[in-house]
Amino acid sequence: MRLSRFHLATVKETPSDAEIVSHRLMLRAGMIRKLAAGIFTWTPLGLRVLRKVEVVVREEMQRAGAIELLMPSVQPRELWDETGRWQKFGGQLLKLKDRKEQEYCYGPTHEEVITDFARHELKSYRQLPVTFFQIQTKFRDEIRPRFGVMRAREFLMKDAYSFHLTADCLAREYRNMFDAYTRVFTRLGLRFRAVQADTGAIGGNASHEFHVLADSGEDAIAFSDASDFAANVELAEALAPAAPRPAPAAALTRVATPTQKTIAEAAGLLGVAPAQCVKTLLVRGRDGLVALCVRGDHEINEIKAAKLDELPGESVLASEAEIVAATGTRPGFLGPVGLAGNIPVIVDRSAAALADFVCGGNAEGTHYTGANWDRDARITRIVDLRKVVAGDPSPDGCGTLAIARGIEVGHVFQLGRSYAQAMGAAVLDETGQTQVMTMGCYGIGVSRIVAAAIEQNHDAAGILWPPAMAPWHVAVCPINPKSDPAVTAAAESLYADLNARGIETVLDDRGLRPGSMFADIELIGIPHRIVVSERGLAAGTFEYRARGESENRALGRDALLALIGGGNNMSIQG
Ligand code: ATP
Ligand code: MG
Repeated sequence: MRLSRFHLATVKETPSDAEIVSHRLMLRAGMIRKLAAGIFTWTPLGLRVLRKVEVVVREEMQRAGAIELLMPSVQPRELWDETGRWQKFGGQLLKLKDRKEQEYCYGPTHEEVITDFARHELKSYRQLPVTFFQIQTKFRDEIRPRFGVMRAREFLMKDAYSFHLTADCLAREYRNMFDAYTRVFTRLGLRFRAVQADTGAIGGNASHEFHVLADSGEDAIAFSDASDFAANVELAEALAPAAPRPAPAAALTRVATPTQKTIAEAAGLLGVAPAQCVKTLLVRGRDGLVALCVRGDHEINEIKAAKLDELPGESVLASEAEIVAATGTRPGFLGPVGLAGNIPVIVDRSAAALADFVCGGNAEGTHYTGANWDRDARITRIVDLRKVVAGDPSPDGCGTLAIARGIEVGHVFQLGRSYAQAMGAAVLDETGQTQVMTMGCYGIGVSRIVAAAIEQNHDAAGILWPPAMAPWHVAVCPINPKSDPAVTAAAESLYADLNARGIETVLDDRGLRPGSMFADIELIGIPHRIVVSERGLAAGTFEYRARGESENRALGRDALLALIGGGNNMSIQG
């Protein structure tokens, strides 16, 4: 490609409304342009990258045996009524009416359409198992579209759906898709983790999310440094400490902490570590208040708390008035010692392993030191109640947990029979009996991957594409070509040669000054830059620089072609 004939439209100013680096760089590089909130045009440059991702996703889906089709974006309401999701999907569903007042939605996902397809097309067990996929535009009316294409309203998704007779067969395909996803993200050169996910309300029985690790990610992920274990922090189990609780050694003593309401303040005054304190929160239970106790350096995990039998399905803090009525004291001085007998005391495993701890005195301006479970404070139940923290042992018994932030780029899910049941998608089995099929669904956020890759791969000058996603692999940059025909000729010949070798090359023949030309090429993240100059030609060399490095190398033509074309450290893909 000659840049003079391409629509490259980089922007110097940093866009003011872009909060994260990928959004800023995609705008500055001129990859996307906003049309409306969460709705973007992919410019020719952006589309080149998007297509690279699409190619890898399609190839790996096909390698895994999935068959491509293309379903409509606009879907009739009747299908969504069959599964009850016309109502249940909520505000994210963009609803439309045609001229006959018939209702439709713009597809946010395609379970209904594929299940309708399957109930018409699949009649016999002989057609199973089968996995269909498509790469298609979705629309979700997100409450807060933000971060550019990262959380857009219109976005490109690869969605796949598999159909089976048995749970075993579904589990095998789930594994197959899991492995295909692993290949996709590996080929794209991303640092990622497959994370156990909550199947939530949809009622499936296995689900993993694939997360690209990046500080701007919306999810916190706990993963082992020694095994494949990874889970959303909200779901990761906090194991009980290995050592048993020591015997009480100190006497229970009430101490004055007149203004020390937080753990940090009380621990500071008393000269103990927060890990030697017990933090008590009162929440609203099914009947009356419930006390939740964790170690002072830990935090209650509200998802775990919401699942407690004593709670009504959610964890809501009691108001100050409720707390005063139930305990006679205000929040800040609460503790398990001497708490009213009708309040259940649910204690986290780590807090339950403490002896001689500090806790609130249940009287204004006081704490206890030397407090001990059983002797001084009652325990109703010991449970896993806290968020895991870095350094905790991994729940699978291998290694230690680290915490990182992640961007969800893929999701595999064993759906089970719910959709097929609701929509009557059944086949005849080997004995001639009608059987409802069981299903899996598998999504990849194709457009989100582009932004996620930039979050992971950038520097002050711009984007550093992993080779598989680069819009071009090589940029040939002639210096002052207009005044020097030899430079032009050498650049043209090198450009032709690289293209002939199947290396995607762009020739910057726009006639810009070197500084502006280099800034653009760095901003848009081309992995290899070759400068053709009068001085270099005189010495018989080109100036080569790899994106991300700060040194130039003077290389002769053969050495250069061997370096770039030899594939020693790069993979050149379509
Ligand atoms: P999220 O929790 O980020 O909203 P989701 O759980 O709703 O995602 P799925 O329904 O599993 O997402 O969709 C499959 C994939 O589509 C996701 O893994 C994600 O990569 C992508 N995706 C979902 N919503 C968006 C969006 N608003 N913009 C861009 N990509 C999205
Ligand atoms: Mg979502």
